[in-house]
Amino acid sequence: MNTEKIMALDKDYVMQTYGRQPLALEKGKGAVVWDVEGIPYIDCVAGIAVNNVGHAHPRVAEAISKQAHKLIHTSNIYYIEEQVRLAKQLVEISPHQKAFFCNSGAEANEGAIKLARKFTGKGDIIAMENSFHGRTITTITATGQHKYKKGFGPLPPGFSHVPYGNLEVVEDAITEKTAAVLVEPVQGEGGIILPPQGYLDGLKKICHENDVLLIFDEVQTGFGRTGEMFASQKYKVTPDITTLAKAIAGGFPMGAILASEEVGNAFEPGDHAATFGGGPLACAAGLASIETIKEEGLVVKSRENGTYFKNELKELFQEHGRVEDVRGVGLMLGIEMDMPCAQLVDAMRHQGVLVNCTAEKVLRFVPPLVITREQIDNVTNHLDEVIGRYTD
Ligand SMILES: *Cc1c(COP(=O)(O)O)cnc(C)c1O
Repeated sequence: MNTEKIMALDKDYVMQTYGRQPLALEKGKGAVVWDVEGIPYIDCVAGIAVNNVGHAHPRVAEAISKQAHKLIHTSNIYYIEEQVRLAKQLVEISPHQKAFFCNSGAEANEGAIKLARKFTGKGDIIAMENSFHGRTITTITATGQHKYKKGFGPLPPGFSHVPYGNLEVVEDAITEKTAAVLVEPVQGEGGIILPPQGYLDGLKKICHENDVLLIFDEVQTGFGRTGEMFASQKYKVTPDITTLAKAIAGGFPMGAILASEEVGNAFEPGDHAATFGGGPLACAAGLASIETIKEEGLVVKSRENGTYFKNELKELFQEHGRVEDVRGVGLMLGIEMDMPCAQLVDAMRHQGVLVNCTAEKVLRFVPPLVITREQIDNVTNHLDEVIGRYTD
């Protein structure tokens, strides 16, 4: 099928929940994807920070295929070897001791909220303004942006929001009913907003003093994205609970909740479950993906090429008046424009580069961590030309 035909069928048969680009992708390799017309693009979206190991990584593809021929699904009624191996791996690379597996970021956050409530015996959750935590009823409630909630009430009680980056307001918001503070260490959908110096440690301290749990939503920041395996390591702050999804299994759908020994043990048999959670296929993909990140040194690549990329973007900032800010960490970068950036996304696509626009004016760059310097140069050269069209 050509793009036009696919678009027509989508309109006829799929619920129209997405504002899609007029593009249908057919295959990928590393940081490049091809559309059904055979046109290549450098991918700075990576399925929104999912394809950290690159597209169709042979090691991940091989692991999925091998596992699919052995056993695709069983049940958590039984023990699953791939699941215990992945849990052990996650504990080794993270600051946590226990894992629970599910299928998406929203589901991981839902589970983390249940876990915090079960552990503390309290109900209230403090989250941040401008945050994003998923699209289920509870996670849109936790999300600090009105546009995701509008029309979907009534929403569950027990959630409040404070401005991100301000410690005083968190202290003021905590009551004897507060179970947890939920925060993205770096806000992703909100426009690549970095934590101010001392903010995450400050949150940890306030939570600790008040017997409140600290939950890091690392769904977007996980698996090398920020130049460390996890943002908690980058900022040297250990939360009580971390939620993961996106890049965890190299593109295969999966989510996870990680917690300290003590907090993780609050879940008892019967408390929480997911039919597909931690199934053999997803876990095989997760193991292959983490092995790839380690063996190919992708965390260091993210840090080094991220710095290179950011410096290139900063040059655009010097040159073009319409660029308001360049920010980010590792290969999680954004440039804030003084104009809506949807038209820039279109123009870049016509130049063979996929980027996406978040928070209306922020062009977000979250490419596969395998992106090369040559590809980065290619992206920034096109960007220079495209932004120049609006500046002159
Ligand atoms: C994408 C994202 C989610 C939601 O993940 P889904 O897998 O789409 O449910 C939650 N939190 C953050 C920080 C995200 O970036």
